[in-house]
Amino acid sequence: MSTPLIGLTTWRKEAGASGASWSVRQSYCDAIAAHGAAPLLVPCSLTTERLRALVDKLDGLVLTGGGDVHPRFYEDKPGEQLDDIDETRDEAEITLARFAIEASLPLLGICRGLQVLNVTLGGTLYQDISASIPNALLHDHKGEPATHLAHPVSIEPTSMLGELIDVHEIGVNSRHHQAIRQIAPGLQCSARSPDDLVEAAELPDMPFVLGVQWHPESLHQRPESQALFQAFIHACQDLQG
Ligand code: MN
Repeated sequence: MSTPLIGLTTWRKEAGASGASWSVRQSYCDAIAAHGAAPLLVPCSLTTERLRALVDKLDGLVLTGGGDVHPRFYEDKPGEQLDDIDETRDEAEITLARFAIEASLPLLGICRGLQVLNVTLGGTLYQDISASIPNALLHDHKGEPATHLAHPVSIEPTSMLGELIDVHEIGVNSRHHQAIRQIAPGLQCSARSPDDLVEAAELPDMPFVLGVQWHPESLHQRPESQALFQAFIHACQDLQG
């Protein structure tokens, strides 16, 4: 069995006169590599045809964290709290997610990645949790270290996530100001925060299509993060046959 090749989507950083770069935090790469797979960075400026060619070579796809998805992708108007929009990235990631699902390729969405997965399948987002839901918990803890456990999530025991983590509640970090509003048709909630927001969702009847609203790559030493990455990489290996 060869080493699974896992595509990681990237975020664009403008660098003045040198031009833009497409990058991803090392913690994502380390988490994938630690479980025996090889991370491959996918630039989001590629054409649909090139993205297709890449997906054909991959054994799995990670939709990484980042800024907000433009609301036009879920038929909403931009509100005042939108932050860090990159429609080139939105289009590339939605295209990649669609190709991956069509090919039954294992897909792990992280933070923004869960939101991209939901939008790809026809769901909508809260553009800003605190502006939309008056009594919501604080979910935007970007000022804290990424290892800070901000709130618990309760896990649906019969979900794939519940089966692979095997506990009903875990503490998670929380570095998001947006969240799933209407969950997409076919997507099932697999974890909720105490204020009843979707913190994880999955596509049943697929080998592995799961998004989590927290950042397991920043909590990599915790057993539930290990179990999550291990199950994802195993699904990628199974695809190789
Ligand atoms: Mn949260």
